[in-house]
Amino acid sequence: MAERLANRQPAPRRSIDAINRTIRMRSGCVLLARWSGHFEETTHLDLRQPDRLMVPIAQSASDLLCRGEPTLVKRCANPTCRAFFYDTSKNHNGRWCSRRCGNRMRVAAHYRRSRADG
Ligand SMILES: [Zn+2]
Repeated sequence: MAERLANRQPAPRRSIDAINRTIRMRSGCVLLARWSGHFEETTHLDLRQPDRLMVPIAQSASDLLCRGEPTLVKRCANPTCRAFFYDTSKNHNGRWCSRRCGNRMRVAAHYRRSRADG
């Protein structure tokens, strides 16, 4: 689904079905918690079954489609990195999944330039 979104294509039906199959397995509850002066509801999931480990991921995918901006899903510009990321940069011109990938690509470009010059 991330690959389709990164290519500006709609989320495929089979992804929606997989998300729903997984969310359906959710068992847990929402609890009230106090965080530095304000209240938040936090979801506590029962993750004792291995297949339930996918529930938070499916919930995140659902949140992205319902409340996020799918056009901000991008593939990392580092060709050795397979990650997708949600571009929260100011002008939405982020290219790398992490500072680490960005630094690696800048160092590699600098090395290529210095080799070409000398
Ligand atoms: Zn990356």
